[in-house]
Amino acid sequence: MDVASGGRMLPRRHVLVANGRVTAVSATPVQAPSGALTVDGPGVLSGGFVDTHVHGRRGFDVMRPGDVESLSLDLLSQGVTGFLPTVVAAPADDLSAALSAARGNPRGARVLGIHAEGPFLSPDQPGMFPPDAFRDYDRALWRDLQAAAASPICLMTVAAERLTPAQLAELQADGITLSLGHTNASYEEALAAFDAGVTRVTHAYNAMRGFHHRDPGAVGALLDQGDLDAELILDGLHVARASARILAATRTAGRVVLITDSVPPAGCLDGDYAWAGRRLRVSGDAVRLSSGRLAGSALTLDAAVRRAVDWLDVSPAVALRMASEAPRTSIGLDPGGLQTGEVADLVLLDPQLRPRMTLVGGVVRWRRMRPKHCANAPSGAD
Ligand SMILES: [Zn+2]
Repeated sequence: MDVASGGRMLPRRHVLVANGRVTAVSATPVQAPSGALTVDGPGVLSGGFVDTHVHGRRGFDVMRPGDVESLSLDLLSQGVTGFLPTVVAAPADDLSAALSAARGNPRGARVLGIHAEGPFLSPDQPGMFPPDAFRDYDRALWRDLQAAAASPICLMTVAAERLTPAQLAELQADGITLSLGHTNASYEEALAAFDAGVTRVTHAYNAMRGFHHRDPGAVGALLDQGDLDAELILDGLHVARASARILAATRTAGRVVLITDSVPPAGCLDGDYAWAGRRLRVSGDAVRLSSGRLAGSALTLDAAVRRAVDWLDVSPAVALRMASEAPRTSIGLDPGGLQTGEVADLVLLDPQLRPRMTLVGGVVRWRRMRPKHCANAPSGAD
C-alpha cells in the first residue's frame, strides 16, 4: 500500500493505528501490538478528505435542522472524514435554527465547524441565491448567530468590499477565516481585502467579477496572489479545464482547495427539486436553475480528486493533498494525515482513487461493500 502525505507518495508503507491515532508509518512490516489496527492495501492511504463547502446531498439539507447528522454519515462514502456544513443567507430565524442544530453523528464524518456563506454578500454577484437575504454587516446579528451555533462558525464567505477593514478585523478576532466570494470587488478592492486579512477565496471564478486585461477584477487579484487558498469546484462544469489549470499554476504549493459545493438534490434522481427558495433541476452531473444557471453541484469530493489528476496534470499525491491537507490548513487546522501521532482520520483508496474504506478517529466507519449477488468468479474462470 502506498501512502500519500504532504503531496508526495511514499511507496509500500505499513501503517498502524491505535487509540485513535497513527502510531507507525513504516517501510518495513511492524508488529501490531494488541489493540492496534493494521491498515493495508492494495491502493493508496491518504489523510481523510475534508469538504469545507457543502450544503447537502441526497436530500439532506444543512438548512433543515437535524439533517447534518444524516449528512455526516452519507459523506463517509466519499472518503470525507470532516466537513463544514455550509449555511446560506436566509432569514435570521431560519439561520439560527439551522446553526443551532448543526451537529454530526458520532459514527459519521466530523463537523469541524461551520461555513457561513453569507449573509454579508454582494447582490451584484448572487450566484443562484435570491439576494433579498443578503445584508450589510450587522455586528449584533453576527453575535446572535455565533451564539446560536452548535459548532463554531469558523469560515465565512464575505463580499469584503462591502465591509470596512475594522469590520473584517472584528470577524477575524472572533476566530473566523475570511473567504472572498459572491463579490463584485475590483482588483484594487480585492487586494485591500487580502491586506485586511482575507486569506481565502470561495469557489474561484464563480460569483465574482471576472478577468479583463484592463480590469482584472477579483479573479485577477486571486491569480496575482499565489499565497491565497482558493476553493475550486472541479465538477467539469463550473470551471473550464484551462481556467482550472491557470488557477493551479498560480498557487503556491497546497493552496488549491477542492470543494463540492454540493446541494441537497445532489445524488438524487434526475428531476425538479426546491432549495433555498429556488426551483432546481438535476440532470446528470448538473444542478441548474430554470434559467440554465448552475446552482451548486452534484459533485463528490473523491470525483474531484480524480478529475484533478486528469485535468491539472498533477500526481495522485498532489491531488489528494487538495482534498485532505489543503482544506484543513486553509481554515487554520494542522494538516493532519499520515504523520505519526496524528489523529487517524484516513481514507484508503483503490488504485483508481475510488474510496474503499474511511476511518474516523482510527475506527472504520465506512467500507465499500461488494454487492451480495456479486460472487467471486470460480477459480479457473476468465
Ligand atoms: Zn455554496
